[in-house]
Amino acid sequence: MARIVQKFGGTSVADIDRIRSVAKRIKCYADAGNEVVVVVSAMAGVTNQLIGWTSEISKLHVAPEYDVVVASGEQVTSGLLSIALHDLGVDARSWLGWQIPFRTDGVHGTARISQIETTEIEQRLKQGHVAVIPGFQGVGPNNRVTTLGRGGSDTSAVALAAALCADRCDIYTDVDGVYTTDPRIVAKARKIERITYEEMLEMASQGAKVLQTRAVALAMRHGVRLQVLSSFSDAPGTLVVKEDEIVEQQIVSGIAYSPDEAKITLRRVKDRPGVAGAIFGSLADAAINVDMIVQNVTEDGETTDLTFTVSRVDLDRTTSVLDDLRGDLGFSDFLADPTVAKVSVVGVGMRSQPGVAKTMFQTLADRGINIQVISTSEIKVSVLIASDYTELAVRALHTAYGLDSQTAGMT
Ligand code: ADP
Ligand code: ASP
Ligand code: MG
Repeated sequence: MARIVQKFGGTSVADIDRIRSVAKRIKCYADAGNEVVVVVSAMAGVTNQLIGWTSEISKLHVAPEYDVVVASGEQVTSGLLSIALHDLGVDARSWLGWQIPFRTDGVHGTARISQIETTEIEQRLKQGHVAVIPGFQGVGPNNRVTTLGRGGSDTSAVALAAALCADRCDIYTDVDGVYTTDPRIVAKARKIERITYEEMLEMASQGAKVLQTRAVALAMRHGVRLQVLSSFSDAPGTLVVKEDEIVEQQIVSGIAYSPDEAKITLRRVKDRPGVAGAIFGSLADAAINVDMIVQNVTEDGETTDLTFTVSRVDLDRTTSVLDDLRGDLGFSDFLADPTVAKVSVVGVGMRSQPGVAKTMFQTLADRGINIQVISTSEIKVSVLIASDYTELAVRALHTAYGLDSQTAGMT
């Protein structure tokens, strides 16, 4: 008998038939004597529609009310799944985030979980009941509904697994595991049997949306055993594990891409202490996440060009922060390019193996793809390229690092 948290993403609960099929899967686990806690997403497409309505009704972004609206998708699936379980004779009950409560900070739209009260869930589990919890939502310090950011149900599931000391957290989605790259764009992508937390963290933060980055970070911190698998098949999934659980490390385990980046270049920024602090401090105050940064050499000893990237959705806000700063900091102007993408190669094996970056640069050069910005960490090399070349670059790198599967198509 095990205590398992099972999370079902949007496509897994996309319609009534899918919800019924998920209920059957849950019943099998419960009938086998396991304690099962289920976390659900909104039905596929629902969160996008709800977000659309909040922008259609007004130009104003009233963050707490936005959360009231977008959290509702998960409420619907929790109730429907609970009904489907009853229909199969399973004792189930759903809660909303505030009823548990799932406590978060007050940052609407990207709230962080601070504490989960598990007493009632534990009692229900002891009685053999199945607990159904809506992902993505919580309650802030002032008792208002909060949401955790797109893809946040993964984080809800992992946080709950940690709080309940669950034996496993199974993330059910529409692919049967973590692949060497997005199987939707590379038919030869291979399923990875085991991936380290560190690699999964880099893959997710560099764009592999199969898991939300924060969910992986949380799993790593609390040692939650995480598994990614499909709700559409019974194929074995991918286990996210500690490094010492992998016998032979690949040099490069996967390729991630993030298509929605924007590049900003500030021209002739004064080359003196404090300027970068003022620019990036103002962007941080506006909650804009800056990713890659390069400062070019000074030609005249007085001024320099500074290039950085942000998410494309943050571009308008970034340019308005920079417009306000221009007078104070005296840079001459700035250029914004919203047609860039980031491609990253990830692997813990590159710590001990030189030449990974060289292969990357050479492969891109052979395809005539220009590299605009480079950034590295111990286990990752990322490059910024024109977004038109994203798929070409990912496919070429996948082949160059020997990741192609011998049999085409998803396994
Ligand atoms: P869910 O709605 O179940 O949370 P998501 O759409 O958030 O599902 O994540 C699953 C998707 O992640 C897949 O359909 C796939 O296209 C994408 N994906 C991106 N990179 C990878 C990868 N390396 N391995 C597997 N899936 C990936
Ligand atoms: N429904 C939310 C979203 O679409 C949360 C999730 O699915 O994880 O982002
Ligand atoms: Mg997701």
